[in-house]
Amino acid sequence: MSLSPSLHQALLSAVADCYALAEQRLGRAFERPEISLAMRGQSAGAAHPTQNRLRFNPVLLAENPEAFLKEVVPHEVAHLLVWHCHGKVAPHGRQWQGMMRDLFGLEPRTRHSFDLASVAPRTWPYRCDCQSHQLTVRRHNKVQRGQARYLCKACGSALKPA
Ligand SMILES: [Zn+2]
Ligand SMILES: [Zn+2]
Repeated sequence: MSLSPSLHQALLSAVADCYALAEQRLGRAFERPEISLAMRGQSAGAAHPTQNRLRFNPVLLAENPEAFLKEVVPHEVAHLLVWHCHGKVAPHGRQWQGMMRDLFGLEPRTRHSFDLASVAPRTWPYRCDCQSHQLTVRRHNKVQRGQARYLCKACGSALKPA
């Protein structure tokens, strides 16, 4: 999915704001991270301190822009700041919690509470002679391409799209 330019800009601004605040409050400079939108699935973001890189999930950003910019961005930036200030410590340990509370004024929550319906693994409804089944996208695609056939363990008949 492609992110709207204004939301992409808002993401970059939110990261820049976090760094401006950090430099002002901590009295030191931080190298700006590389920002990637390559995160998929149910995670909102990830920080890769050794590469000074942040990865964000564009689907969850688009669906929850306000909470994402306000909480996910500082959460991930805090991981990089902790790495620069303290080196290798527990990912959500007291240094990170302190950064969240004292620098960003946020509750140090480790999980987001976004609705994951749109990023949950999708399944396809199938049926056999005796019951209905759910196939993963991967299996569904194989059936569609004629590369696989799946049999019901109960009745032995082939699963067909419902
Ligand atoms: Zn984290
Ligand atoms: Zn069956």
